[in-house]
Amino acid sequence: MGLRIRTFTGGPLATHAFLVSDDDGRSIVVDVPPGTAGEIASALRMYGLTLDRIVITHPHWDHFADAGALRDATGVPIAAHPDATPRLQNARTSLFPVDGVDFSPASLVPDQSIDEGDQVQVGQTRLRVLFTPGHEPSHIALYQPDEGILISGDVIFPGGHGTLDVPGADPAAMDRSLRKLAALPDAVIVYNGHGDPTTLSAERDWLPAI
Ligand SMILES: [Zn+2]
Repeated sequence: MGLRIRTFTGGPLATHAFLVSDDDGRSIVVDVPPGTAGEIASALRMYGLTLDRIVITHPHWDHFADAGALRDATGVPIAAHPDATPRLQNARTSLFPVDGVDFSPASLVPDQSIDEGDQVQVGQTRLRVLFTPGHEPSHIALYQPDEGILISGDVIFPGGHGTLDVPGADPAAMDRSLRKLAALPDAVIVYNGHGDPTTLSAERDWLPAI
């Protein structure tokens, strides 16, 4: 067993999609930023991967803008937290201003709901769904304990947490989510939605004490 993570980056905020695959060629994609669907579909063909699911960490447009296009190209279901559904369907509500960007989001209807306690499978490997609101009220992360992998969306970044300067952000919820993630082992590698990956040990100086 061993998961491989390939990163694709797109959109004005350089948002990441993660293609997570196992040795048998089963895979999922976590988040689909603007303009990445074609590149991801090509990679699936190039590497001979079977895509089983698209997971959206949270309904901010920079994380899901190309999810519908990837679903159209692959025929696989899109999964998100149940509270994300109205925000994905009425994509205007997931907008926040970005200088110089005129974005007209398409409505997205997810196929599956996933929440705390659920598992998302990549072949035989199960990733735990963690509910991590704060940056956004329906935010989820995926955690694989044996591999020591956390795909964290916009919660933990090198040097600090995800911005609370967006509509719907909640500092108290963020604090609870950070405490939940801070309880994971030091060696966990954090694949966040923008910028470089980090580890929990590298972020202990600002994460809440357990
Ligand atoms: Zn976000």
